[in-house]
Amino acid sequence: MYGPLPGDQAGPLKRPAPWRRRPATHRAGQLHGGAGGHLRLGRKGLAIGIDIGGTKVAAGVVDAEGRILNEARRSTPGTDPRAVEQVIVELVEELGRGHRIWSVGIGAAGWMDLAGGTVLFSPHLAWRNEPLRENLQRLLRRPVLLTNDADAAAWAEWRFGAGQGEDRLVCITLGTGIGGAMVMDGRVERGRFGVAGEFGHQIIMPGGHRCECGNRGCWEQYASGNALGREARLLARSNSPMAQDLLAAVGGRPELITGAIVTELALAGDPASRELIEEVGEWLGLGLANLAAALDPGLFVIGGGLCSAGDLLVEPARKAFARNLTGRGFRPAAGIELAALGPNAGLIGAADLSRVSSRVRR
Ligand SMILES: [Zn+2]
Repeated sequence: MYGPLPGDQAGPLKRPAPWRRRPATHRAGQLHGGAGGHLRLGRKGLAIGIDIGGTKVAAGVVDAEGRILNEARRSTPGTDPRAVEQVIVELVEELGRGHRIWSVGIGAAGWMDLAGGTVLFSPHLAWRNEPLRENLQRLLRRPVLLTNDADAAAWAEWRFGAGQGEDRLVCITLGTGIGGAMVMDGRVERGRFGVAGEFGHQIIMPGGHRCECGNRGCWEQYASGNALGREARLLARSNSPMAQDLLAAVGGRPELITGAIVTELALAGDPASRELIEEVGEWLGLGLANLAAALDPGLFVIGGGLCSAGDLLVEPARKAFARNLTGRGFRPAAGIELAALGPNAGLIGAADLSRVSSRVRR
């Protein structure tokens, strides 16, 4: 009943013999994109997207154009898998009233197996080899798709947001860490084992800051919201007169400074905060140049909380990218744009992916 995920790998070894292959128009995951309604879906319908974060669960009814018709939220109920399932069931029941819901897509941080049935690992939840899809399909009596939250957001940006029309797309989410995902030729690209996109852990400064992955010098230690907060706290503790606005904003207590506070001050014109964001932007651009050398996308879409800094972040990133790009001057360079869908990208993408993949074999 349930088709392959758009991210399913269709490499030469796995591809069925040509005479058994389905017509291309039925392989939604393989269709190529263009702006707007480039996936020729048989029927239009509604899907529910659910984004499970470390602190909250956000859900919405999403139509075939990526619009959210109705929303609901809950706090994440601890880490017990049964409690999380229960919240999902409640949200689907609540949101499903008055709508004909075709399928349910669930995005969560972590790794899913390539078939999208099992959560291999999720940092915020106690899911280890959890057969979540099977459990939920039984409870919800609808097709359910599980996906990584960054993949879901990238899919949404490609279908409805800043990445429309770009078939080699890399999305970067700057939050506490760095999330990454790719949509290549109309498919979510997840690598051989389903764990691609961990760009935040490319080592950009050997021997640098310790990362929670265990290594030192990972990109997310330099180009994330956490990195911005850490550098701002260091500046505030240095007794530099530059830090006076930062210190004033937190009542003289440097430990209270966060990336969000720095961003706010920068937007209000504080020169020290602007400088701190510029520095993060430069690290961002350097990491993007590395990714361009490996992946050669047409466009990077930058999302996540840090994006509220807008051009204060992206302009220095563009400059550093251009300065570090391999073969610069002799090759076309990828664009760098801000995400268009904001914090709802994950739930929109999860809903849309569930609709697309649940129709594949109909
Ligand atoms: Zn790391």
